[in-house]
Amino acid sequence: MQKDIATPIRTKAILNRYGFSFKKSLGQNFLIDPNILRNITDTADLTEESGVVEIGPGIGALTEHLARRSKKVVAFEIDKRLAPILKDTLAPYPNVNVIYEDVLKADVGKVLETEFAGINDIMVVANLPYYVTTPIILKFVTGLYPIRGMVVMLQKEVADRISAVPGTKNYGTLSIAIQYYMTAEVAMIVPKTVFMPQPNVDSAVVKLVKRDKPKVEVKDEAFFFQVAKASFAQRRKTLINNLTAGLPGGKDKKETLLSVLEQLKIEPSRRGETLSLEEFAALSNALFPIFH
Ligand code: SAM
Repeated sequence: MQKDIATPIRTKAILNRYGFSFKKSLGQNFLIDPNILRNITDTADLTEESGVVEIGPGIGALTEHLARRSKKVVAFEIDKRLAPILKDTLAPYPNVNVIYEDVLKADVGKVLETEFAGINDIMVVANLPYYVTTPIILKFVTGLYPIRGMVVMLQKEVADRISAVPGTKNYGTLSIAIQYYMTAEVAMIVPKTVFMPQPNVDSAVVKLVKRDKPKVEVKDEAFFFQVAKASFAQRRKTLINNLTAGLPGGKDKKETLLSVLEQLKIEPSRRGETLSLEEFAALSNALFPIFH
């Protein structure tokens, strides 16, 4: 078996050999702890038949672990300066293809179709660039791609928001957007010392698994998310005040809103952050015909 890329000594040697300097603006914090890489890979439950999408391979630290445990890895990397390094470090892994493109601009659906033909199990695994964590996760969660789920390293603060339950301070539109499509759990908390350079914030690995169907049944997804967004707009305001202020024409429909809340047995003086996904679904389904 190849020696791991991700030890502090090997990582430093590789960076020195190529005169590579980190770009903070690209969220370049590389992993230098093989144990963490093994844990991330284990969490993804890969088999020899799995396909893996990696975002931001860096110098290939996580990529090689994924390549050893799957059929094929396709990685998106924005920084072309890493191309000569990855060509060398990943030379022992012919089952890896690196695409030098911004993952947010890439046609991911098309890439999955062409790169993973015949592969039925696709997992997204990444140590994400922290400046774009949320847009990247939302792209994969809402993108309707044929993936089983995601195992991603991100800021602990974002991990807490993704996995938050109703009635807690971290529960918000991000929790709802993700938990609607996926089950979400924090798989591990990760110390700063496993990165080079060390980030300023604590990190966590989150595991998201796509549900067979969304957690709740809604008449109109866009309106469901609009109602949730309006309900969280000002966290100290009551639900009724946020709904009247945040829904189009809400101010003129206050009485109707109050009677819908009463029918659903949702107290208008509650805060948006106490409503479950089931309650948001019932509320948006009842309000949909009134606002359309
Ligand atoms: N996977 C490596 C590791 O764990 O050591 C590097 C992870 S580092 C936190 C994030 C990586 O994402 C960097 O290699 C960075 O260049 C890349 N990156 C940043 N923005 C990106 C984007 N929009 N699309 C694709 N890759 C991106």
